[in-house]
Amino acid sequence: MKILVTNDDGIYSPGLACLAKVASKFGDVIVMAPDVEQSSMGQAITSGRPISYKTSPIQFEGMEAYRVNGTPADCVALGTYLFENIDLVVSGVNIGSNLGNSAWHSGTLSAARQAVLFGIRGIAFSVSVGETETDFDALSPYVGDAFKEVVDKDEQELLNINFPRNPNGEITWTSLSVRHYDGKMVANKDPMGRQHYWFTVVPIEAEDEDSDRWAIKHEKTSITPLILDLTDKEYLSKMKS
Ligand code: MN
Repeated sequence: MKILVTNDDGIYSPGLACLAKVASKFGDVIVMAPDVEQSSMGQAITSGRPISYKTSPIQFEGMEAYRVNGTPADCVALGTYLFENIDLVVSGVNIGSNLGNSAWHSGTLSAARQAVLFGIRGIAFSVSVGETETDFDALSPYVGDAFKEVVDKDEQELLNINFPRNPNGEITWTSLSVRHYDGKMVANKDPMGRQHYWFTVVPIEAEDEDSDRWAIKHEKTSITPLILDLTDKEYLSKMKS
């Protein structure tokens, strides 16, 4: 199996190194990630200028690795163009969870979604953060377990996997927690006295049972199967009849 590994935190992220290492146990890995952080870029593509890639400034043991001056979706587009027969695109491990409504703006998940647009399986991996730095050596076995859980389930093209801060080892399949938008605006003043605003990702409503947010709250690893079709089929058939 040929696996393309990318992320939105950039080529230097320890989460990328962790995922690449785990992926290398399942297939041949090529790393292609943004040269700078691209979090919350969603599925943006660079269309106003050309993009290019260079060899990664840091080593990934036994793997080809490159940095791209573009977005996560650009990395997937370029990687699948340059390297033929990619069977799977994995993205992450993002430093910060991508639950519920984050699906809309997550660069991590969007990279996996971009792969699905090209007809390739895409799996996103993210971990909740706490007060201290994430210990990716400690997380690594849980990433391996999740990988094992899904790698043969190739009937499902797009998956969003989240790890809690301290996984209890349980893996649970969940739904996307679609609630009122998990963001609020915080108004403040800069040192010059000018008004500014900070958009924060604080959930507005409580989590729904068996959703991804619920799983993380209960320290379980969450796997959410997703589809690309946003059509409201119920409403469509009502309008057509
Ligand atoms: Mn990120």
